[in-house]
Amino acid sequence: MNAVVLIRQHLIDPEVCIRCNTCEETCPVDAITHDSRNYVVDPDICNGCNACVSPCPTGSIDHWHLVPKAEAYSLQEQLGWDELPAQKVLADEAAAAATTGPEDRGESQQPNAAASPTSPIPPWSAARPSLNLHSLKNPLSATVAGNFRVTAPDAESDVRHVVLDFGTQFFPLLEGQSIGIVPPGLDAQGRPHHPRLYSLASPRNGEREGYNNASITVKRVTTDHAGQSTRGLASNYLCDLKKGDTVQVTGPFGDRFLMPNHAGSSLLMICTGTGSAPMRAMTEHRRRLRVANRSPGGTLMLFFGARRPEELPYFGPLAKLPPELMDINLAFSRMPGQPRAYVQDRIRARSRDVAELLRGDAWVYVCGLKGMEAGVLEALRDACLEAGMDWAALHERYVREGRLHVETY
Ligand code: NAP
Repeated sequence: MNAVVLIRQHLIDPEVCIRCNTCEETCPVDAITHDSRNYVVDPDICNGCNACVSPCPTGSIDHWHLVPKAEAYSLQEQLGWDELPAQKVLADEAAAAATTGPEDRGESQQPNAAASPTSPIPPWSAARPSLNLHSLKNPLSATVAGNFRVTAPDAESDVRHVVLDFGTQFFPLLEGQSIGIVPPGLDAQGRPHHPRLYSLASPRNGEREGYNNASITVKRVTTDHAGQSTRGLASNYLCDLKKGDTVQVTGPFGDRFLMPNHAGSSLLMICTGTGSAPMRAMTEHRRRLRVANRSPGGTLMLFFGARRPEELPYFGPLAKLPPELMDINLAFSRMPGQPRAYVQDRIRARSRDVAELLRGDAWVYVCGLKGMEAGVLEALRDACLEAGMDWAALHERYVREGRLHVETY
């Protein structure tokens, strides 16, 4: 019998990928490429080194299919996908006669947790998430129940709180998960647009408690990364939605950036701008438990950065939260006559309390601009060092135990 050579082919889930280019920038062997729609991995180049896995903010990069080498998915095939194909069922004789060895380029180790800024697992006490119930091929129809501006009327950024109702359809969601929104119409190739991912801003039991609805936080995109005027397709569509409109939804996505549920667990939440969505969801879940006298205890500490109070999403509601619920630290970067402050500056100013929190049963969530990630980790490191703690050991343990979650774009 001829031996069938199997490889673990590295694939990217086009439904979850947010096209941020991080993987292509990270890949040391230039195995990752993209067209106007998809990011794909060249099976002839990828050596399974995993360098791209932990920097990916969504986990869409971390898919490995066992396939006969001769039948590896080509770049052209991958570029045509709207969703990942199912793992191929290998013929018995292929599986039995399979050989791996030097040909098995995709054979990968687990991501190196110590080197990664983000945990490869969720908190041990997180609820079990439902995943991928709806795809681009079978999206869920949701009805817009509300669309409210959550930045001040005179703010430069138009940030919207969009509430979607799922009616009687089964669509269980958890804080920290994301959903995909499919913009209507077709792309330049005449195919449906790929879904855009948004973090949930509402807790597991709905934006309105007991209702089968959820909310997302959307910033209207009017400029590109270079500052040139542009019109973000999905964000403008969402920001202009009216009550009663119908929206096509995919997901849920995300099985790591989830909150702990056990007694005594503390949350350290650090965010900028619309990265506040998952923090709102987690805070609201804990607030509701507290109101129902079912609080698990623990501390909530928030560091939240925006240019000015007027630009900070949910500034009004945040200011109304009971002070005993959460320790709130705001950083404003463009206040007239004041020095620029970023979240990492506020962390440094509160370093003793932050270190004390990290010494205990804390779970850390960082969400927002990519640029904040390094600065925030440095500020946490400095807080620990000042308190005489071993940052390297703590960081390694936090990553390994599912205590450090980063979602920055
Ligand atoms: P933004 O308004 O552009 O920025 C918020 C604040 O962060 C500003 O004060 C900004 O200061 C500051 N900042 C800039 N560079 C920083 C750095 N290196 N370290 C710390 N702070 C820094 O924020 P945004 O446009 O809302 O962006 C939020 C990000 O969250 C986006 O990248 C978005 O993709 C991501 N996100 C969104 C969601 C969602 O569901 N909508 C979910 C997850 C993540 P200056 O501008 O004055 O420098």
